[in-house]
Amino acid sequence: MQPFTYDALTGRVVFGPGTARAGLADEVSRLGVSRLLLITDTRAASLARELAVPLGGRVVGLFTGVQEHVPVTVAEAARQQAAETGADAVLSIGGGSATGTAKAVALTTGLPVIAVPTTYAGSEVTPVWGLTEGERKTTGTDSRVRPRLVLYDPELTVSLPPGLTAASGLNALAHCAEAFWAPGRNPVTALAAAEGIRVLAQALPLAVKDGTELVARSDVLYGAYLAGTAFGTAGSGLHHKICHVLGGRYGLPHAQTHAIVLPYVLAVNLPGAPEAAARIGRALDTADPAAAVQALAAGLGLPGGLRDIGLRGDDLDEAAELIEPAVPADNPVPVGVAELRTLLRAAWAGQPVTDEAAVQAAREAAVTAEVLASFAGATPPRYKELAQSLVRNLHAFAREIRLTQEEWQFGIDFLTRAGHITDDRRQEFILLSDVLGMSMLTIGINAPTAAGATESTVVGPFFVAGAPETPLGGDIANGAQGRPCYVSGTVTDTAGQPIAGARIDIWQSDEDGFYDVQYPDGRTAARGWLRTGPDGGYRFWSVHPAPYPIPDDGPVGELLEAAGRGPMRPAHLHFRVVVPGYRPLVTHIFVAGDEYLDKDAVFGVKESLIVEFTEHPPGPAPEGRPMSGPWSRVTFDMVLAPAAERAT
Ligand code: NAD
Repeated sequence: MQPFTYDALTGRVVFGPGTARAGLADEVSRLGVSRLLLITDTRAASLARELAVPLGGRVVGLFTGVQEHVPVTVAEAARQQAAETGADAVLSIGGGSATGTAKAVALTTGLPVIAVPTTYAGSEVTPVWGLTEGERKTTGTDSRVRPRLVLYDPELTVSLPPGLTAASGLNALAHCAEAFWAPGRNPVTALAAAEGIRVLAQALPLAVKDGTELVARSDVLYGAYLAGTAFGTAGSGLHHKICHVLGGRYGLPHAQTHAIVLPYVLAVNLPGAPEAAARIGRALDTADPAAAVQALAAGLGLPGGLRDIGLRGDDLDEAAELIEPAVPADNPVPVGVAELRTLLRAAWAGQPVTDEAAVQAAREAAVTAEVLASFAGATPPRYKELAQSLVRNLHAFAREIRLTQEEWQFGIDFLTRAGHITDDRRQEFILLSDVLGMSMLTIGINAPTAAGATESTVVGPFFVAGAPETPLGGDIANGAQGRPCYVSGTVTDTAGQPIAGARIDIWQSDEDGFYDVQYPDGRTAARGWLRTGPDGGYRFWSVHPAPYPIPDDGPVGELLEAAGRGPMRPAHLHFRVVVPGYRPLVTHIFVAGDEYLDKDAVFGVKESLIVEFTEHPPGPAPEGRPMSGPWSRVTFDMVLAPAAERAT
C-alpha cells in the first residue's frame, strides 16, 4: 500500500425512497436551523413547495431563479434574498444547478446547505463551487459550500426523462473513473469509485428503460452518491478539464458532454494506469473498459459524437489549445495539444473506441434489462422481487458460463425428462433440488433461530400424505422387512415444557433401503403418524433403517454419475412434527456409525441429528413385546421453536 493523505468528507446522508417526504422536517430540526431559504428551479418549484409543507414557517423564502452553470447575477440575487429574509440555512431541491446556487450563497455567507438532489450530478457531496460570468466559468473548493445534510430520495428521480437519466448517470460514472487518477485520489476514493462504476453500469439500463423502477433508481442514485464522494475528494483530472472547456466555451450540455467524452479519455489514460484499468475492468466485467463504457452509453440511447450535441468541427483545434494548459501534470499518460486534437476529433465524430466484445456485452445487457422491465408491474411485490431476482441470476449464469445453444437444449431435455418421470409416487424435482443442495440451503435460510431447537433437514421425495394413524407404542412397520427397532422420545418447547398432542409423521426405508412407494404393489409400510401423549412423549415400533441410494434411474441419477458422485444416503428415519403455535419441524435421525454419514448425496446430515441406535438380544422388549430375535432401540428428544421465531 502506497502512503496517502485523505481529507475525509463529513456531512449527514439520509438515503431511501420516501425520505424527502417523510424525513425532511425532522432532519432540519436535527440540524438546529429554523429559517430556510428554499432554492430550486422553475421546473421543480411545485415539488419543492410540496416537500416544504411539513417545514411550515421555517421556510422564509423561495428562490426559483436557478440557471445552469450558476451565473454570477443569479448567485447575487440568491444571496440578496438570503440576507433580506434573515435565512440561517439554504435548502436546495433540484439538480446540480440548484445545488450550485445554494453553494454560491454559502460561499459568501457561510450558511449551511441542505441538499435534496433530483439528478445524479453528485454536487451535493462535494466542496466544489462553480460560477460563470459571461463565457468564463470559475470553480473552486471551499469546505463551507459542501452540504451538511443530504437527503437522497430515489422517488424524486422517477420523473427524470430517459435521456437525462442516461446522461446524468454517465456523468456520475465519469466522476468515478476520473477519481482513479485525479490529484486527490487515495485508496478510499478508489474503493467508492469502483463500486460506483459497478452499480451504475448494472442499474442504468433498467432505470433508463423503465424510469419508475425504484430498485434501479435507488441503485443509480447510490452510485451517483459514491461518484460524488469519490470526485469530491479526488478532484478533477483530464476528463473534467476537457468537459469544462467544452461546456464553458462552446455551451455544450454538461451531462451529455461527459457521456460522449469519457470513453475517449479512458482509451487514452488506461494504458498508463494499469491498476485503474484492472479495477474499472472488474467493475464493468470487461477487458476493455473504454469500449464497454461507449457501448453502455450507446445502449442507453445517448448521442455518440460531440457533433451531435452542437460542437462545430472548426472549433476542435481551438478547444485543444484551450484545454492543454489545464491538463494535470501527473495525468497517467502525457497529453499535449496533438493528443488532445486526436482525442477531440474522434469524440466529435463519435468514432468507436470499441471492440466486438463490448458491443456484445451491451447486447446481452439489453436483453436482461428488457426482461426485468417486463416484470416491473408484477404484483404482489414479493412476486416481482422473486421473478426479477430469478431473471437476474439466471441471465448472469448463462453469461458467466457462455451457455451454448446445445447446452440450453440439453437443459430443456433434462427438465422435460424430470417432469415425465415425476408422478404421485416419484418426485424427481425434489431429488434435483436435494442433490444440488437447494433443499438444504432453503432449510438453512429458514432455520429457526431459537436456541436449542432441533435442527431441520430435507423433506426428501418420499413423504406421502394420508399415511395410517398409529397409537402410541404401536408398530408402523406393517410388514416392512428389517430388524425391529423401538423409537421413543419427547417433544418439548425451548423452555423444556412438554408439548402434548403434537402430530408426528414418520417414514423410512426397509432393510433393503426401499420405501414402500418404490414397490410396485401399492403397499403402505414403515410409515405412519401418531400424537404425543400428555407428557409430550412418543414411542413406536418400526424397523432398523438402512442406507440406500436415492432413485438414480432418472435424469438426477445421470447427473450424479456424470459428476462421479454416489447416490447413497446414510440410514435414517424421517420425522415431521406439526402442532399449532410452533414452527413445523421436518428432520431426520441418522444412525451413528453409518458409512455414508460424510457423503450424503443430498447434503442432509447434521451433527446434532446423528443418534446412537443400541442393539439388544432376544428377550423382553418395550410395550410388553417378547422378541425372538435381536432388536434395536433409539431415543430422540425433539425441541420445537415457537411459531413467531423467524430466520434472520
Ligand atoms: P441541472 O440541475 O441543470 O438539471 C438539468 C435539467 O434537469 C434541468 O432542466 C432540471 O430542471 C431538470 N431536472 C432536474 N431534476 C429533474 C427530475 N427529477 N425530473 C425531471 N427533470 C429534472 O443539471 P444537473 O445535470 O443536475 O447538474 C449539472 C450542473 O451541476 C452543472 O452546472 C455542473 O457543473 C454542476 N456540477 C457541480 C458539481 C460540483 O461538485 N460542484 C458536480 C457535478 C455537477
